[in-house]
Amino acid sequence: MTAQSAVREKLSRLGIRNDLDLILHLPIRYEDETRLFAIADVPQGQTVQIEGVIVHSEVVVRPRRQLVCQVEDNSGVLVMRFLNFYGSQIKTYAVGKRVRLLGEVRSGFFGAEMVHPKCRIVHAGESLADAMTPVYPSTAGLSQKMIGKLIGQALQSNQQMLTESIPDNIIRKYQLAGFRDSVMCLHNPLPEVSLAALQARTHPAWRRIKFDELLAQQLSMRLHYRQRRSHTAPVLTQKDGLRQAFLAELNFQLTAAQMRVAAEISRDLNSPYPMQRLLQGDVGSGKTIVAALAALQAIENGYQAAIMAPTEILAEQHFQKLAGWFEPLGIRVAWLSGSQKKKQKQAVLDDIASGTAQLAIGTHALFQDQVIFHQLGLAIIDEQHRFGVHQRLALRMKGAQSGQVPHQLMMSATPIPRTLSMSYFADLDVSVIDELPPGRSPIVTKLIADNRRDEIIVRIQQACEQGKQVYWVCPLIEESETLQLQTAMETCENLTRVFPHLRIGLVHGRLPPQEKAAVMLAFKQGEIQLLVATTVIEVGVDVPNASLMVIENAERMGLSQLHQLRGRVGRGTEASICILMFQQPLSEIARKRLKIIFEHTDGFEIARQDLQLRGPGEFLGARQSGVPLLRFADLEQDGDLLKAAQATADELLNNYPQLAEQHIARWLGEKAGYLRV
Ligand code: ADP
Ligand code: MG
Repeated sequence: MTAQSAVREKLSRLGIRNDLDLILHLPIRYEDETRLFAIADVPQGQTVQIEGVIVHSEVVVRPRRQLVCQVEDNSGVLVMRFLNFYGSQIKTYAVGKRVRLLGEVRSGFFGAEMVHPKCRIVHAGESLADAMTPVYPSTAGLSQKMIGKLIGQALQSNQQMLTESIPDNIIRKYQLAGFRDSVMCLHNPLPEVSLAALQARTHPAWRRIKFDELLAQQLSMRLHYRQRRSHTAPVLTQKDGLRQAFLAELNFQLTAAQMRVAAEISRDLNSPYPMQRLLQGDVGSGKTIVAALAALQAIENGYQAAIMAPTEILAEQHFQKLAGWFEPLGIRVAWLSGSQKKKQKQAVLDDIASGTAQLAIGTHALFQDQVIFHQLGLAIIDEQHRFGVHQRLALRMKGAQSGQVPHQLMMSATPIPRTLSMSYFADLDVSVIDELPPGRSPIVTKLIADNRRDEIIVRIQQACEQGKQVYWVCPLIEESETLQLQTAMETCENLTRVFPHLRIGLVHGRLPPQEKAAVMLAFKQGEIQLLVATTVIEVGVDVPNASLMVIENAERMGLSQLHQLRGRVGRGTEASICILMFQQPLSEIARKRLKIIFEHTDGFEIARQDLQLRGPGEFLGARQSGVPLLRFADLEQDGDLLKAAQATADELLNNYPQLAEQHIARWLGEKAGYLRV
């Protein structure tokens, strides 16, 4: 490998492939080498520079081998300590040498000390840096000096890349700094620039960069949105016959929120553009009914609808429910699962292809090649975050044969905080069910350390005696599914021993689908009193008589998972309890999570706090593969910029299409294409 290609390889590890990437490779922080502090006055816990002469230097071997020097200036003495060092450093840092140290000062056993400072030999009176020193994200074998040099070269030879992409009126409106000035300032801040503003990224130069980044994201999302409107979709009008009959058959009234979102969806279906709507609603808010209404609208217009769910249990449950609702109305509902026998499956496929089946419900099996729809008008995807972009697209393309694209409704019980839906989901329309059906009694959450298991056993006994049903959720063991299964079986055996008189069932991911369905049915019908389960029951399972849930090792689970699990109880009118068992000691993050889930039941609030804990990367999950993540903007801190970028995106697309294109190319390059269709 030549030296150059070695450097190139290292740069590509940092996501840098060309000069533009280099130019936009901005510092993670800055060091202040523009001034010297007197040793006697250094502030604690802050990175500062001092200069002095080495007055003592020795290799100490206890407690472990380390190089310890004493550095003195006019005001005092400071210890410099290296825990890892080369032999050559012992000679370099010899008594009498004058050094400049940059580091954080802590008070150690022998007074003020710096551990592993940045240290270099200087001569008396050597000039200070005249600007803050940028520190760049780096990778092994690529020095700061090297990165700085490469960036400097890129800046010098590519000034044309720094042209302004935002029109004057917008710059003035939001009081933005110029692009060129901002880039230059962040790479080479002038001495008078405030270090604090640079570090906190509140400096106008940073705000401009963040604005640009958010704008690029908004532009690409809006383009996807507009592009979709260049396709046509079947116009599905709302007819009242089936709808009325269906609503009359229900033994409850829709909530105001359900009616509102149903109307939003209905309006979309009634338009010639493919709907791409995300329906958000907390666990138990009643999304299924809303999906059913949408499916009816497609069916009434002579089109088919499909509902795809991420697990067999959930798909099966949807099938039961919707078939129960629809078949009395004379609608044919088909059920497609990966585990069906060949012959049976073929019959279902034939029904879907001929159009006999008006609604098809299933798992991933629905978007496989053999599935051909007669005329798909609406694809509904439940728990959309469980599917990748490609899977969702595949189902959608199923209906695209006739030149029209079907409408798509995505449902999510993992609420997406508003800032996220404004940014990463800006290509979708969003409907929110912000109200639970009436008559639910709130769930009481209890945190119990697992050495108090006995109390829990008593509670289970009491609940079952009162005719209630109980979930026992086994610990998540991420490293090994086999181990998880084993634990679940052992738990089931133990509980059977503890409760010889209870009817106990076990459900887990490896159970053949028919058995899984049989266990779930038995639980639903009350034949099983205590259901031991792995996290397979996390999504969608709906058994209103179950009012007590025990979750083992809750400290290992993520917030949205805990919220989903807990949402399996509190579905009936009984007061429900969710017991989170945990093992001590708790890590800092686990403690925070448990506190949040203990204090809140509102999924949107939990999601907001989850976002703060984890940042958007992990939060986005599958969507992450389709959308470039923000590198600079912070959605919490930069909410105002996000709003400004949102407004600017439409203005640019309408009035300055060339600038919009240039802006997207600058920030997203080839990444812009990911989300097409
Ligand atoms: P989720 O939004 O979690 O998918 P579901 O659609 O499964 O929620 O609904 C949860 C439960 O609430 C179901 O038993 C459903 O029949 C019931 N439900 C839905 N809407 C209402 C309503 N407006 N009034 C009373 N119960 C309702
Ligand atoms: Mg659901």
